[in-house]
Amino acid sequence: MHALDVNNIRKDFPILSREIYGKPLVYLDNAATTQKPLVVIQKINEVYTTINANIHRGIHYLSQLATESYEEARKTVQRYINAPNSNEIVFTRGTTDSINLLASSFCRSQCHKEDEIILTAMEHHANIVPWQIQSDINGIKLKIIPITKTGEIRLEDIECLISLKTKLIAVISISNVLGTINPITDIIQLGHSYNIPIMIDAAQSVQHVSTDVKLLDCDFMVFSAHKMYGTPGVGVLYGKENWLDKLPPYQGGGEMIADVTFEKTIFNELPFKFEAGTPNYVGVIALGEAIRYIEKVGLNNICSYEQFLSNYATNQLEQIPNIKIFGTSQHKGPIISFLVDNIHHYDMGILLNQLGIAVRSGHHCAQPLMNTLGIDGTVRASFAFYNTKEEIDILVNALRHIISIFSKRIRT
Ligand code: PMP
Repeated sequence: MHALDVNNIRKDFPILSREIYGKPLVYLDNAATTQKPLVVIQKINEVYTTINANIHRGIHYLSQLATESYEEARKTVQRYINAPNSNEIVFTRGTTDSINLLASSFCRSQCHKEDEIILTAMEHHANIVPWQIQSDINGIKLKIIPITKTGEIRLEDIECLISLKTKLIAVISISNVLGTINPITDIIQLGHSYNIPIMIDAAQSVQHVSTDVKLLDCDFMVFSAHKMYGTPGVGVLYGKENWLDKLPPYQGGGEMIADVTFEKTIFNELPFKFEAGTPNYVGVIALGEAIRYIEKVGLNNICSYEQFLSNYATNQLEQIPNIKIFGTSQHKGPIISFLVDNIHHYDMGILLNQLGIAVRSGHHCAQPLMNTLGIDGTVRASFAFYNTKEEIDILVNALRHIISIFSKRIRT
């Protein structure tokens, strides 16, 4: 049915064998962050115990080794998303940092007052607030693509929003709340037909589906290492070379310069122009290892197994009375948001936690989407390839159990 040996894979993730309140951990909060395989944990240890030194500036042996590993990780990311050049891969602190970089640099150099940036109604705060900050600084306007009842966006709605003032369309590839897989290929083609560049927030997709920025032809893409089995504090901004060349640096400091006097600074070449200060080189090297691990498991295997988990979970959840699933698109990643009548999402999260089940409850950093849905939060279960069908059964049984306790309370 699927080519993954999940029991063996689980052995690669030490944390998965721990217990919570005497119950086996059922970790279903992968959209928030993924667990780390031993190879990544060991790589961090290896860097600190064998090659640790600040990168790029040293001529000594360790610095050269650390620099080589850091730059090798850049090539690994380049290969993973099929970017034409390694200088198009900028390391940042995470998706949030990547979007702040782009928003600041892009708006400063490409936008005038009243110019427009188009976003969807399902964006994460990380792809809303940085643009609002720019709006306060230089008067750009945000235009929002609405969502349909099934939690999808329609190309005709985007086309309606495009105007001569549109400077960028910035779109989430897989919704961190609804799970919707957006039609990014079509959106990119549409944008380009009007000469508008496209940024893809791929924080919830690069770990699930194979990503080819060359084929997609997107202008910018952002994602975080910690959601793809790497560490927190590392992210990626991919940008087409001609775009990155045009954009001014985001932050100033060491590394990003070619020459500094008190009168003037000449900036370094790509990608260093955007990497001010000492980067999290240990985390970047660990990201390279995480990607090699994903490639070893195989993205096609991952994708089909996670799809199986997601379909099974949806099916099982739908059979629970009084449950409402948010996001009913036919094209979904392994993320399911739901609410149960009369049980607040926080209560549900707390009760599931007591049974060893880690889900997320709340607005998932998507308050505008919550407003559109007319709710203040959901319970969210999100899957990774180390999850099992049995874990979904545990979740579903736990939900049934909690609902039965609540309904008895309501009746008495
Ligand atoms: N965009 C999306 C779609 C996300 O899911 C997240 C993380 N929840 C972010 C952006 C922000 O990522 P980070 O916190 O790693 O910067």
